[in-house]
Amino acid sequence: MNNIDLIVVGSGVMGTFHAYHAARLGQRVLLVEKDAKPVQATVRNFGQVVPSGLGERWFGYGRRSLEIYRDIQQEYDLTVRQNGSVYIASDEEEWQLLNELYDRRRAEHYPCHLLSKTQTLAKYPVLQAGYVRGALFFPEELSVEPDQLIYRLIRYLTNKYNVTYLTNAPVIDCYPTTGGAGITLSDKRTFRARKVLICNGSESRLLFPDLLLNSDLVVSKLQMMQTVPMPQVSLPGNILTGLSIRRYESFTGCASYAQLSTPDHYAELKKWGIHILFKQALDGSFIIGDSHEYAPAAQAEDLDFQIRDYINQLILTEAQRIVQFPVQAIQKTWAGFYAQTKQEILEHDVNDNIHIITGIGGKGMTSCAGYAEQSIRRLLPELYTA
Ligand SMILES: Cc1cc2nc3c(=O)[nH]c(=O)nc-3n(C[C@H](O)[C@H](O)[C@H](O)COP(=O)(O)OP(=O)(O)OC[C@H]3O[C@@H](n4cnc5c(N)ncnc54)[C@H](O)[C@@H]3O)c2cc1C
Repeated sequence: MNNIDLIVVGSGVMGTFHAYHAARLGQRVLLVEKDAKPVQATVRNFGQVVPSGLGERWFGYGRRSLEIYRDIQQEYDLTVRQNGSVYIASDEEEWQLLNELYDRRRAEHYPCHLLSKTQTLAKYPVLQAGYVRGALFFPEELSVEPDQLIYRLIRYLTNKYNVTYLTNAPVIDCYPTTGGAGITLSDKRTFRARKVLICNGSESRLLFPDLLLNSDLVVSKLQMMQTVPMPQVSLPGNILTGLSIRRYESFTGCASYAQLSTPDHYAELKKWGIHILFKQALDGSFIIGDSHEYAPAAQAEDLDFQIRDYINQLILTEAQRIVQFPVQAIQKTWAGFYAQTKQEILEHDVNDNIHIITGIGGKGMTSCAGYAEQSIRRLLPELYTA
């Protein structure tokens, strides 16, 4: 393949949305994936697109992502559904935070509705009445099917924008060339372009390991489960609960956050970074999670490959306090891993033509589409000056 403008290494949601925005601007893009298909964080998540939970800069990228997902969905089925997101408060403190976020999001002209306990139970009858204090609903937010979205998005890019997609292609070297940059694959093939962008996710050992392993990147391991299909149960949209309210960035900016106490029954759950989310998949099954364990990128192997049943049982016991359907009817359980950094994202320019972007943490499905748009604007400013 000749005359490539941009090589994107890594076809998770970060790399693929960069490929999308560059290709839309007429760039000839080569997207390279080390595995036969992407199987990392981008396919192991809930598929919740929830800008309301993000801090201010990322809230903006999340809002833009909603538009991008909707625009593509009109042309090509990416599995995007607009069922909204709902945060369910279980006590007075969480309810107070919901009220404060409601005021802020309304001031930002972001559609939302506060629901009383009665209204919440009327809208979501499968919730346990004893759990619910009230809820905050964001009608514009989206859900996607994580086990399908990225494959469909890549197909859309190759069909519509002539993006070239190479799989089974681990990139093991990346270097400057005259007027650009080059890559070498593990089978020794080489490619050159004007620029290379590396969106490696939590893989830190193949390219620029000195830089990545000595950065502040931390890898998080999340335990997830999926129930058997329950088409008779309806709990649509992204369901976020009390511990999510206590955890998500958007609430840390609320006035009463500093006074938040931790009820005793949350202590063990918080120790494992557990908060309870539900997402009903198209077949009626529920994705339920999650927990968070952390290790520096250089010691990511310490996170272990095993699923701890103790953590899953903590999650399911709390989940059963929230919903009436039988959450113990689990058909699958898995772990997902993502990289994160204190800076919210790791953006590193190796030189003018080689760039690394990783460490987006737990917000990638929500914000990559919008984030990548401004990122391409930064990386390829010449495309915007004409
Ligand atoms: C369990 C779980 C639940 C989550 N839930 C949500 C959610 O509901 N909503 C939300 O917004 N976010 C969620 N997230 C976060 C979101 O999934 C991530 O932020 C996002 O998927 C990260 O995308 P990425 O492209 O950076 O990384 P990845 O998905 O890890 O993709 C990186 C890709 O690069 C490839 N690669 C790496 N190095 C090379 C190389 N040298 N050569 C070739 N290919 C390479 C890898 O094989 C991989 O396919 C969740 C994450 C997890 C783990």
